Amino acid sequence: MTEKLYYSDPFTAKFEAEVRACTAAKGGFEVLLDRTAFYPEGGGQPFDLGSLGGVQVTGVHERAGEVVHTTDAPLSPGSRVEGRIDFERRFRFMQQHSGEHILSGFLHSMFGVENAGFHMGADAVTVDTSAPLSPEQLAQAELAANRYIALDREVRCRYPDAEELKTLEYRSKKEIEGALRIVEFPGADRCACCGTHVARAGQVGLVKILSAVPFRSGMRLEILCGLAAIERLGAIASENTAVSRLLSAKPLETSAAVSRTLEALAAAKAQAAELERRLCTIRADALRGAGDVVIFEQGLAPDAARRLADAVAEVCGGLCAVFAEAESGGWRYAAAEHGGDLAGFAKELNAALGGRGGGRGGLVQGSVNAPREDIERFMQSKFPEVRAV
Ligand SMILES: [Zn+2]
Repeated sequence: MTEKLYYSDPFTAKFEAEVRACTAAKGGFEVLLDRTAFYPEGGGQPFDLGSLGGVQVTGVHERAGEVVHTTDAPLSPGSRVEGRIDFERRFRFMQQHSGEHILSGFLHSMFGVENAGFHMGADAVTVDTSAPLSPEQLAQAELAANRYIALDREVRCRYPDAEELKTLEYRSKKEIEGALRIVEFPGADRCACCGTHVARAGQVGLVKILSAVPFRSGMRLEILCGLAAIERLGAIASENTAVSRLLSAKPLETSAAVSRTLEALAAAKAQAAELERRLCTIRADALRGAGDVVIFEQGLAPDAARRLADAVAEVCGGLCAVFAEAESGGWRYAAAEHGGDLAGFAKELNAALGGRGGGRGGLVQGSVNAPREDIERFMQSKFPEVRAV
């Protein structure tokens, strides 16, 4: 069985070992050592990356008590090699993992909820709880966890005998084989766990619950601990600073400023709609009984062009075609005629002026790509009495 240095000292980043076996396998070579600091996948914690004798370690798994390293090149059995693990990456996992223990321990002792699921991803850790928790409860548990971290108590990992285990209270996760390893954060958590942890609680740095949403019978919490938490909180603070500058608001008053901005935007939209409605009425009144009409406008939204065409067609006694100049060049059009059938008109318009669009009955819409003079000429040819305004 491989001697597991990641248990005897989880801070081992560099070690020497003897290659016991090396075989070609899927994805590279499988290497067995007499001892290793490479943590294999397990307990929700990803495996370590690094190098062995100068070749890259791309995977680490446990198989029947042996730690199997997958490498990208072979190593000679019997040779001595130096192993180096990517310790920055591992340390961050240790911070996440240990912080999760402390928080889960307090959620359990304070509110009686179990940790029903745990996943350590590249950018966040998720914790699923067995029951719902209020924002206040989550804040209380987070504060308790951080207060505990500040006290910097020593973390203990041990293998109690069967007799002691009978009397010991501990949280347990699934899939534990062989001797039970109990990880204790005294005063915060006692849990059966096979992962790697910090030596002292203070090394976690901090625990932050980033989000909490209902999930199954409880909540799914997104948490970050230690350096990753500091980086994320820094990014969130930068984002908030940018918002506060854009809205000229104090950093802790950005949400109120966003609310005010959204309200102002809604009011401006309502006012624009009202002005547009009035414009339609005024234009329509001026064209009462005018017969066929073509209107050229700038800065009209597609909906507004349609409403204007509709309002004028109501009173002009003929067809009303509205052409609104588009920012991208060309014109958007909407044409209406009460009781009319404009499908044929739209087809001809599109064919003559490089357009697209259509419709049915007394309303058609689309766009054409031609200068105003060409549009006027086309309209004149179709409706000799047309008034251009
Ligand atoms: Zn653990």
